[in-house]
Amino acid sequence: MKLKAKYMDKESKLRANIQNDFWYSFQNSPQINSIHPQIEGITLKLNFNYDESLKEEFIKLYKPSDKVFFRIECINKDCIYGGFNLSTEINHLISSKKTKFKGHQTCNGYQDYERYLAKNYHCLCRLNYIIEIKYDEKK
Ligand SMILES: [Zn+2]
Repeated sequence: MKLKAKYMDKESKLRANIQNDFWYSFQNSPQINSIHPQIEGITLKLNFNYDESLKEEFIKLYKPSDKVFFRIECINKDCIYGGFNLSTEINHLISSKKTKFKGHQTCNGYQDYERYLAKNYHCLCRLNYIIEIKYDEKK
């Protein structure tokens, strides 16, 4: 019992650290309009494949006053060091002035804490996404 409690404690500490890094990075990201004043809005249409089930699409809308922060948490609640980041794709779209891009990413986290300790079995949750960007033509 004692061992198990210690184990749980390490896991929750690790999860808390990962969560803190996520929020720290969010807090320290600039607003979209301070870097890309020509952008009127960004829409992300997301759905996930995990455990052979397809989760319903959900939509994230970014206003110009929102943060330049395009990390998306993994839907596998047990995942460690997982998640997705669409920053590279979005930056590429903006620099080439494109309005739409469709793609997918695979989660590179560990499936759960035990697999993280063993350093095997990646989560492999799949994110399918569509990025849409609206530009202000006058800027
Ligand atoms: Zn994951």
